[in-house]
Amino acid sequence: LFAGSTEFLKGVVAMSGLPPADRIEICLAGRSNVGKSTLINALTGQKALARASNTPGRTQEINFFTLAESHYLVDLPGYGFANAPLPVVQKWQALLKSYLTGRQNLRRAFVLIDARHGVKSVDEEIMSLLGSAAVTFQCVLTKADKVKASDKERALDLTRKALQKYPAAFPEIVMTSSETGDGIATLRAIIAGLE
Ligand code: GDP
Repeated sequence: LFAGSTEFLKGVVAMSGLPPADRIEICLAGRSNVGKSTLINALTGQKALARASNTPGRTQEINFFTLAESHYLVDLPGYGFANAPLPVVQKWQALLKSYLTGRQNLRRAFVLIDARHGVKSVDEEIMSLLGSAAVTFQCVLTKADKVKASDKERALDLTRKALQKYPAAFPEIVMTSSETGDGIATLRAIIAGLE
């Protein structure tokens, strides 16, 4: 799946702009700066790919990429910008909610969590939203290279505990580093295995 080319398809600002739900779809969510763009680049092996969704004006859009012409990879806007104006936040929350609730080809959401910082309240908001939309989500701990080996188990344990109250959470947590490549193959295999 990741051997082929990945292409930026479009940025969506309204439900009417969604591409047809004709292929398997996965989405990635996470706080701003969690390492989402870097992870997309690492997964696809295309360094400049996610820059498309990080350019100003694109950051509040739902960005669609095509994976090997058989899947959609969806980059959700980064959340947790405390200084974003309220109307902007409300607009994208409404879009996000409609998208998550209505997308029948969406197989799984990946919620990215900085391995150093753990699950924050804004992450929990997304998890609740995913739960109410009945979308299974899986946590991906990012920047594992920044965590000492002895702290990795602790980071996993804390995340596992935080997930206990979410029935929509997939139990396996993936620890990744876009820097060293740790966990990237595992995550690719998980995505490729979704049907
Ligand atoms: P986004 O806002 O979630 O898209 O975050 P970015 O992908 O732009 O990453 C934010 C910062 O974290 C950048 O300076 C990246 O170089 C850095 N970063 C991302 N992933 C990793 C990682 O796995 N390890 C380390 N050490 N730094 C990372």
